[in-house]
Amino acid sequence: MTPRIKRPSERRMLSLTVRASKQTSRHFMTVTLGGDDVRHLRQTGFDQAGRLFFADPAEDGDVFLPSSERWVLQLTLQGGKRRPRVRTYTIRRFRPQESAFDIEVSLHEIDASGRASAPGTRWALAATPGTKVAFLDEGHSYAPPGGTAWQLLAGDESALPAILAILERSAAGLPAEVFLEVPASEDIRPDVTMPPGSVIHWLPRTDPSVKPGALALDAVKRAQLPDGRFYAWTAGESSMATGIRRHLVAERHVLKADISFRGYFSHGRASL
Ligand SMILES: Cc1cc2nc3c(=O)[nH]c(=O)nc-3n(C[C@H](O)[C@H](O)[C@H](O)COP(=O)(O)OP(=O)(O)OC[C@H]3O[C@@H](n4cnc5c(N)ncnc54)[C@H](O)[C@@H]3O)c2cc1C
Repeated sequence: MTPRIKRPSERRMLSLTVRASKQTSRHFMTVTLGGDDVRHLRQTGFDQAGRLFFADPAEDGDVFLPSSERWVLQLTLQGGKRRPRVRTYTIRRFRPQESAFDIEVSLHEIDASGRASAPGTRWALAATPGTKVAFLDEGHSYAPPGGTAWQLLAGDESALPAILAILERSAAGLPAEVFLEVPASEDIRPDVTMPPGSVIHWLPRTDPSVKPGALALDAVKRAQLPDGRFYAWTAGESSMATGIRRHLVAERHVLKADISFRGYFSHGRASL
């Protein structure tokens, strides 16, 4: 079964620039994107995400940023060197008054000399005010059905922005049991806004050889969960997301309709 994603009914390719960037811990960078085009972005789901088109700082040349929702066609017409990189990021925080929004990029694959091999990480580390990007809303998947007593949120660092956005915006009557794996203990956030009664189980990866998502999958499998019907949302490394869904359905008899799951990346494989 494929994840249920609610795509926006109308959307535009947004032409934006970096307003600010701030490294908040060793493995996270908050980047604020803004511009007049933000007026065309409608807030929908709490885990709303979009495709970010950007020039890779490691590559030379005059990169073409798409201006239309028919970006595949536009990019096909460009020579290989002019094509931008494309990665998907969650809208962590809307700032409509400032015609801006924040994304949080998880930084990974950085060598001892500080060089990053992944384009998304490279871009975030180099992003400075004025850097041009394009952004296309891709919708959301978080959709708790009525009648659920609580929610289970599980993910790794790639899903941290979505999980924190969901917690901040969830109704007070929908407490969450959260399993959140992060690269290191210094990435744990001390000050999360969340519905009363919520609990976050932070899962720092103390062993760097452990595959991302493995701790979250294991913790959910072993957890003593609260009673009552619940909605589960899980995203991150793809075998973690599918593993959690499989466990909830087979071992805990959760209805498939009460689970949203999504692979955000596949371990060992770069995004296309
Ligand atoms: C709907 C959606 C929302 C997302 N929201 C966010 C978000 O808000 N913040 C965010 O950081 N990511 C988010 N992601 C995930 C992000 O798009 C991927 O992690 C993407 O692969 C990052 O691109 P990259 O250039 O850094 O790495 P790639 O070039 O794609 O991958 C290079 C290598 O790094 C590994 N890798 C990729 N991502 C990670 C990671 N996060 N941690 C550890 N290893 C990794 C890959 O398996 C591969 O081996 C989201 C994905 C989706 C589909």
